[in-house]
Amino acid sequence: MPLTEHGRARKQQFHDRLGILHHRTLHHKLKERFPAAFNTRWTRRHWVHASLFATLGALVATIIPGFSAQLEPQTRLHATLPLSLPPLTVRAPNAAHPGHQWEVVQVRAGQTLGALFDSMGVSTQVMHQILEQPGNREPLSRLRPGAELAFALGDDGQLEGFRFDRSPTERVELTLAGGRIHEKVLERATTTRVAVASAEIEHSLYAAGRKAGLSPASIAVMTDEIFKYDIDFKDVQRGDRFSAVVEEVWREGERIGGGRILAASFTTNGKTYTGVRFEHEGKIGYYTPDGRPLKKSFIRMPIPYARLSSKFGARHHPVLGKMRMHKGVDYAATTGTPIMAAGDAKVQFVGQQRGYGNVVILDHGKGHTTLYAHMSRFGKIRKGQSVSQGTVIGYVGSTGLATGPHLHYEFRVNGQHRNPLSVTMPPPEPLKGEALAAFRAQTAPTLARIESMEKLLYASASKPDQAEGKRG
Ligand SMILES: [Zn+2]
Repeated sequence: MPLTEHGRARKQQFHDRLGILHHRTLHHKLKERFPAAFNTRWTRRHWVHASLFATLGALVATIIPGFSAQLEPQTRLHATLPLSLPPLTVRAPNAAHPGHQWEVVQVRAGQTLGALFDSMGVSTQVMHQILEQPGNREPLSRLRPGAELAFALGDDGQLEGFRFDRSPTERVELTLAGGRIHEKVLERATTTRVAVASAEIEHSLYAAGRKAGLSPASIAVMTDEIFKYDIDFKDVQRGDRFSAVVEEVWREGERIGGGRILAASFTTNGKTYTGVRFEHEGKIGYYTPDGRPLKKSFIRMPIPYARLSSKFGARHHPVLGKMRMHKGVDYAATTGTPIMAAGDAKVQFVGQQRGYGNVVILDHGKGHTTLYAHMSRFGKIRKGQSVSQGTVIGYVGSTGLATGPHLHYEFRVNGQHRNPLSVTMPPPEPLKGEALAAFRAQTAPTLARIESMEKLLYASASKPDQAEGKRG
């Protein structure tokens, strides 16, 4: 970076920092003025989340002058801080309908809709009229405690307007006049924020993830998608840690949806794994920072929760009663256990074969095929169809020559049987050329956030003040 540009960047960073300070001050001021808006809308989870960033903000602000070389990533992290505060909602008469004076009521635990309407002095008849409007009954009959309904009552106490949230994105506003109901659907405003969450595992990954503000869905993306090929989460220990850059959608102070993970790093057993989200040829995937897919060409076991019951090689055949080469491996599992495609493939064969019973053969290209036998039934697949890794292709059974329900799994390379447990799998293709350039440009800021977060929290984890900071 040329010096002048660097100077400009630093100046910008100072402005950003000032902006954050301003934001935080503003936040306090608003809190003083509208305590109700904050207290009723912020759950403990939000505070935990926000306080983590507030503490980090203080840390960053203290540390930054010390190392200018790291200013850029620090600032990126920094720039996300104010975004973690939910937007302020102030209850006021709806500006769009100056005639309506809305009264907002929260549903209490155990309260029926009838009781709520009754408490507002609205007749059961009018309530039923509202429920009979198409699309209203279902969302109104499963309102959760804390959900908000708004009533607009006329001077004579008659219901003139009723407002509720039909879905996370839709707000319905009904106007009642002369026995008729006019419906207006408003889009509920949402904001997208990027936040960095990080935690060290004390009891469980789940607990640490929740404490850092991640949704259960985001935690599952880390374990079942990003790192499932590299980390055995059964072995995760106290002291292991993760950081994740999460894109969250918020609406009126509440996080909706799981939160999309843009990048994550996981450190276990002294080794750090990093995955960053990238869309390539219409497919979303997670890649290493140098552009290699984290997804392996083949999963280790095409069946979840199964026991290896017979290995590859010469054995005494249990049904034929003589020595036979076992050309695959067997996994014992209960009938009906789903069987997954071990890798992206074209379906080469679906049907019956002697001995194998119901069998599926998948062609993975480059001379690699896999075979799945003794199925009780097939998944929704047909010959010639493309399936992606993990697609359910059938279910465990004991059709053909089998003593009990199990999956017989074969792996062939150019027609030759190989031991699926030891064969060297072809590595997935790394990104190249333009795709790699695009990947680098797009993922660098996200990766920098992870890096700065990790440096900030764990580079000198022994320091008591920093150890305090990461708990937020
Ligand atoms: Zn077998």
